[in-house]
Amino acid sequence: MDLSYIINELGEDRENYYRSVSPPIMMSSNFCFDNIQDMQESLEFEHEIPFYTRGVNPTTAILQKKIAALEKTEDALIFASGSAAIGAAVMANLSQGDHVVCVEKPYSWTNKLLNQLLPRFGVTATMVDGTDPKNYERAIRPSTKILYLESPNSWTFELQDIEAVVKIARKHGLLTIIDNSYASPINMNPAEMGVDIVTHSASKYLNGHSDLVAGVLCATKEMTTKIFKSEFMTLGGIISPMNAWLMLRGLRTLPIRMERAEKSTATIVDFLASHEKVAKIYYPFHPSHPQYELAKKQMKQGTGQFTIQLKTENPDEIIRFCDSLKTFYLACSWGGHESLIFPAVAMVTSMNYKNATTPLNMIRFYVGLEETDYLIADLKQAFDKI
Ligand SMILES: *Cc1c(COP(=O)(O)O)cnc(C)c1O
Repeated sequence: MDLSYIINELGEDRENYYRSVSPPIMMSSNFCFDNIQDMQESLEFEHEIPFYTRGVNPTTAILQKKIAALEKTEDALIFASGSAAIGAAVMANLSQGDHVVCVEKPYSWTNKLLNQLLPRFGVTATMVDGTDPKNYERAIRPSTKILYLESPNSWTFELQDIEAVVKIARKHGLLTIIDNSYASPINMNPAEMGVDIVTHSASKYLNGHSDLVAGVLCATKEMTTKIFKSEFMTLGGIISPMNAWLMLRGLRTLPIRMERAEKSTATIVDFLASHEKVAKIYYPFHPSHPQYELAKKQMKQGTGQFTIQLKTENPDEIIRFCDSLKTFYLACSWGGHESLIFPAVAMVTSMNYKNATTPLNMIRFYVGLEETDYLIADLKQAFDKI
């Protein structure tokens, strides 16, 4: 399916709404019927026909079709957040006593799901260094059900060889789930490599405008139907029709935003990697990354997130550098139009500098849609202050 067709046409029944180019926002909780037979049918196919908005909403349904097509899967489910999507994908495939093998240092709330929330229900997890697929295999127990991937993972952007992990999963009859937020469906389609469930924080690239929180899950129709009838409907973490519409609007520019991200990030990474005040850069598409070849093999191109380590380890200097940046906002999240930094030093109070688990001179960067010269000028003036 052509990318432009998915973005502009797929799922849009314009003849049903006055041929308006932009689809309507169906702000309705429920849908009514002409007769009992229609109502019976809708209830039977509650996962396909609008009955109640916790199940199917027509605005959200447009989005669902586009997201599934972008990830090259049969179907998708849309959630109120990325965490809700990840939680549903994982929980729908586990019971008491089951075990998960997960890449170490995943997104922080994925870590809490696997190591704090699910243990309360008798589920355990082993976190492994995913740079060697054999570590996944070594951690498998008789009770293992899921191999969980996030490639690259947060902060240090280590990759997992997805095809190799899928091969191990198939050999042992296990399910694979991946968080594909970093690459976006434009740069990587893990389902094509055999991954069973692909999740995204749509708050990031899919929406792309820092104005909503949402999540998606992509899989076979059989899997989405199973999740729909369990976690999706019972926990009810759905997106509102308004936010689904905003995300449809955000999606229209996804391919050009990703094109821009690749180009400007490459320029900024080159500037930083050769800067005398930078000790190290963590970016999968920089030749200094130990898995540069794997990155080029399984992702189309780079995106806008990377981490640097400043040469200085002096907290006062690190803070002065961060506070001096003006066009890179100090904020969490990423994937919007605005450039951001999330410094490790912000994660601890000054009382606890000695106990910090992440080196204090690490700064996670996100490059937005601004002109690169404008961003580099800001970096230069901040470097001049340390
Ligand atoms: C933000 C993020 C999440 C969580 O998504 P929310 O939409 O904030 O719930 C999950 N994984 C990654 C990689 C993220 O960056």
